[in-house]
Amino acid sequence: MNKLSLVMKVLKTVVFPPKCPVCDKVIMGDARAYARGEGIRICKGCAKKLKWIQQPYCTCCGKPVRNERIQECGDCQRKKHFFDETRSLWVYEGEARKILERFKYFGRRDYGELIGKELARIYGGWLRKRGVDLIVPIPVSKKRMRQREYNQAALIARVVARETGIAYKENLLGRRVETLPQKNLNSIERKKNLENAFFLRENDVILKKVVLIDDIYTTGNTIDTAALVLKKSGACKVFALCGGIGKNY
Ligand SMILES: [Zn+2]
Ligand SMILES: [Zn+2]
Repeated sequence: MNKLSLVMKVLKTVVFPPKCPVCDKVIMGDARAYARGEGIRICKGCAKKLKWIQQPYCTCCGKPVRNERIQECGDCQRKKHFFDETRSLWVYEGEARKILERFKYFGRRDYGELIGKELARIYGGWLRKRGVDLIVPIPVSKKRMRQREYNQAALIARVVARETGIAYKENLLGRRVETLPQKNLNSIERKKNLENAFFLRENDVILKKVVLIDDIYTTGNTIDTAALVLKKSGACKVFALCGGIGKNY
């Protein structure tokens, strides 16, 4: 960044000080750092309220577990997943739940930037270590797209791709049938609802290591179903990154 554009950006952050995306309060701090994009993006108070995923967590789905001796959570011990590993930013409760609900249902598209940047910051190295070479968002159906006007998973995925430089295919996966909102269904209905839901628009996944992006991990069925489609088409590994994950222990 040249000197003049840095000065302009510093001035901009003085005139329009950065706001915390969670509580919308102005964040006080070093204008130069914000201009360079180094500033904290969430205010300290809100950052504290968010339950960031930390060790110990399930080596498979990334859900927090009670202690370090537990390798896999109960869910992953009971059910074999088609995806290889999933990681998330926050436990889906409290403040994180509010963020993810506003993001999904109340038009707050700007949260895609926050979640994507944080995923890239925390799991960028994790993705490189696993040799991931393609980023694909979990798609929404055409009807859902018309209702909400955006796919929240794609908003996150674009940012992760931009920040990590990994190849990105927004429309590689399609959603074949109109699925009912998952939150109103029990687990058997959810599974049925998802069966045959995904299809591949072009086969560009042979021998690739793909990372799926979604906003929330609940039962893992959505990611599992999409991972199965990708693996059947030749993907050798399928990982996933999500904004929030249920605690569930
Ligand atoms: Zn805040
Ligand atoms: Zn697990």
